[in-house]
This record gives sequence, C-alpha cells and structure tokens, in this order.
Amino acid sequence: MTTTVTAAPARTRRLTGFQSTGELHLGNLLGALRPLIAAQDAADSIALIADLHAMTVEHDPARVRACALEQATIMLAAGVDPERTPIVLQSQVREHTELHYLLECVAGHGEAARMIQFKEKSAAGGPVRLSLLTYPVLMAADILLYDVDQVPVGEDQTQHLELTRTLAVRFNTKYGETFRVPDGIRPDSAARIMDLAEPTAKMSKSSGTGRIGLLDPPEVIRRTVARAATDTLGLVRRDRANQPGVSNLIDILAACTGRPPADPTSYAALKREVTDAVEALLAPIRARHAELAADPAFVRRVLTAGAERVRPIAAATVHRARAAIGLLAD
Ligand code: AMP
Repeated sequence: MTTTVTAAPARTRRLTGFQSTGELHLGNLLGALRPLIAAQDAADSIALIADLHAMTVEHDPARVRACALEQATIMLAAGVDPERTPIVLQSQVREHTELHYLLECVAGHGEAARMIQFKEKSAAGGPVRLSLLTYPVLMAADILLYDVDQVPVGEDQTQHLELTRTLAVRFNTKYGETFRVPDGIRPDSAARIMDLAEPTAKMSKSSGTGRIGLLDPPEVIRRTVARAATDTLGLVRRDRANQPGVSNLIDILAACTGRPPADPTSYAALKREVTDAVEALLAPIRARHAELAADPAFVRRVLTAGAERVRPIAAATVHRARAAIGLLAD
C-alpha cells in the first residue's frame, strides 16, 4: 500500500512594522493594527516595533525606551495576541543591524538619497544623521530577515518596499538565492485616515491638533473631532477632492462602525456620530491599556518571548547572507 503525504499549504507570513517615535494614533489602528488583528487566524504575522528607526532623528533616550514599551502595551490592549502574533522589538534581535550592514553593501548612495521621506525629513533643516539616509536599507533588512511573503504597506511606504525588493533581487542575482522577495499588500480592511485639522495630509505621529491618539481621553477626542476642518458646502458626502475634511469624517465613521452617517443633514450631527464611534472603539482599548500598564514586567516578557520566537528565522537568514556574500562561516 502506498501512502501519499500531502504537505499542508504553508501559511502566508507577514510583517507589519510600526516606528516607535510617538504614541500610536487612530490611523495606525484603522490602517494597520486592526487588519493585523483581523488576519491573526489566516496569516502568520510578526508585529515589529521599529525602535532603531527612532534614532534617525534627534531623540531622547528615555523617551525612545518609554515609547517602545508603550507601543507594545497598546498593541496588546488593541487585541494583538502574542501567542499567534509575536510582538518583536527590533533592537532586541541583533540580526537586524547585521543584515542592515550586509544590505548596505548592495545598495547605492543614490538609491537611498532618492527616497522621498529622506528628502522631506532632511529638507526640514538641522543636522542630518547618516542613519536617516540609510534607514530604508534597515527597513529592507527588517523585512528580508523574516522570509516574509507579504508586507502590508500604506502608500507612503511603497517606495521603501520597492527598494527592499530591488536589494533582495540584486543580492540574489549577484550572490545566489538568499532572500524571499516579498509582495506589498493593502489589506481590504485598511483605511487611510487623514489629519483632522489638515485633511489633505495623512494623520501621523507628528500631526499636531488633527491627530487622535489611541489613549486620548473622551474629552480630547470630542474636542479634536469638533474642531475638525470641514468646508462651507454644507453637504455630507464623500468627495475627497473637493471635501477632504467631510470625506475623512465619513471614512472614519465607516471604518469604526461599518456604516454611513445615520443623520446626513449637518456637519454637527456627523461630528457627533464620529465622536461616539471613535469613543466606542477606543474606550475598551484605553481600559485594557490601563490594566496592562500596571504590569510592565508582563509586557517586557511578551517582548522577550517575541524576540526568542523569531530569532531562529533571523539567524538562519543572516547565516545564508553571510555565507553568500563571502564571509567565513562562524
Ligand atoms: P508608522 O506610524 O508610520 O510607523 O506606520 C505604522 C503603520 O500604520 C503602517 O502600516 C502605516 O501604513 C499605518 N499608518 C500610519 N498612518 C496611517 C494613517 N493615517 N492611515 C492609515 N494607516 C496608517
């Protein structure tokens, strides 16, 4: 009798990264965290907190440490299950920096200098750290280290993902098959959330009054939404080009509740609905965060366990890359 053994189809591996430069906001939740949580059963995701990236600009060491722990706490509070999705602090897996160097050896100065984010941040004035220039190569290392199939990315990261793919293909061609070349994906459930005060710009960690932090208390949420920029047309409808503020509010409501405005008669009514919907989404996260924040040792253990879980994959990749590029085996 012959037995046919059919291998179980390999599960898709994904990496979602978050820069630990500030508190996570509503855009991070609706654009990245929620899709990650929704896919926990379908894909093998790694949630990476990119604390090394925080050092590419002037930084306060105590704040970088605090932000890293805070982000991990918020991720857990939002529903990332560390049993299914390792939460990994970039700096705790040393292979990130080792692979960064090896990839720098196949990256050109011009390629890095062309990156839009580098141009924007370096144009802001003040001294420019060399690490700001090479940060997209570190991001390539973050991704290639884990043999991932897919990287959920927002539009702003498309150029960096393209560089990652270019470097992987170049390395593979020059030195032999070493890296899996990942695809960028946009999860169906991801929303692009704009700054409430400046709705033509994306809500980001550096946004000012137009940003809703995931730990903002109810009165701050209410005030931020109440002050959200609208227009003088008086029409509650989605028209990104002509009504970016109103469209953003409608999108936020849809992302939070899955439905259009119940009362499409006034901007005040729309803002009330958005306030209630955001508060309903964030209140349980705030409550769970308060419990977890009381036990930072637990969160640190989650990070240690996450690093331990992924380190063998990272070590195997670096081992392959070292051998391929011409280093003696250790
Ligand atoms: P970052 O905060 O830039 O490190 O981004 C972490 C993740 O959140 C990435 O997957 C981004 O694409 C996503 N993200 C950041 N800001 C927004 C936003 N305003 N709307 C939707 N997704 C966002």
